[in-house]
Amino acid sequence: MGDSITLKCSCGKLVGEIERSAANRSTRALCFCVDCQAFAHYLGNHETVLDSQGGSDVTQISPARIRFSEGKEHLACMKLSDNGMVRWYAQCCNTPIGNTMANPKVPFIGLLHKCMYPSEGESLDDVFGPATMVVYPEFAHGEPKPKGNSWSFALGVARLVKNIITARLLGDASRNPFFDFSTGNPITSPTILSEQEREDLRTRVGT
Ligand SMILES: [Zn+2]
Ligand SMILES: [Zn+2]
Repeated sequence: MGDSITLKCSCGKLVGEIERSAANRSTRALCFCVDCQAFAHYLGNHETVLDSQGGSDVTQISPARIRFSEGKEHLACMKLSDNGMVRWYAQCCNTPIGNTMANPKVPFIGLLHKCMYPSEGESLDDVFGPATMVVYPEFAHGEPKPKGNSWSFALGVARLVKNIITARLLGDASRNPFFDFSTGNPITSPTILSEQEREDLRTRVGT
């Protein structure tokens, strides 16, 4: 077991690694929000990325713990609207990578499970612990709706905020491989959807 786990798109052109120590300051969530579901529909792989009720399995860490070694030119990003999160994916095969804020001063990324490869016989739960936050369960498909525990949700949010503050204190805001620090912008310009495109996607999500 190395000191990092592999980050990779499904076709293997984009390769990187995540320091295992990132797990010391991580949180995990199962997010059912319409935007996360719309992103999976945008990439056309909602059937493999989302769980049976439309949930996205998200691991939240500091982006400073990520390094890309191959194919960084395949990284692309989009925003569902002007103000939304920046949603990153590998454009070679539409593998979702993760969501960041538009501002690198908030050192945070929510990685989607499809791009992470722990060691043989090891699960993401083993590395980062199980998801303790269930986000927007009201937008889950089917019944019964997934049930979160409000106490673990509150603890998760508190931990997430603490992790972001700690990451900032450690200087992680200037070690973010998704941003160009000479401009403060994402390394590649996000595609921003029009209102119509966004509405079309939301219709396809169909919650
Ligand atoms: Zn790929
Ligand atoms: Zn979401």
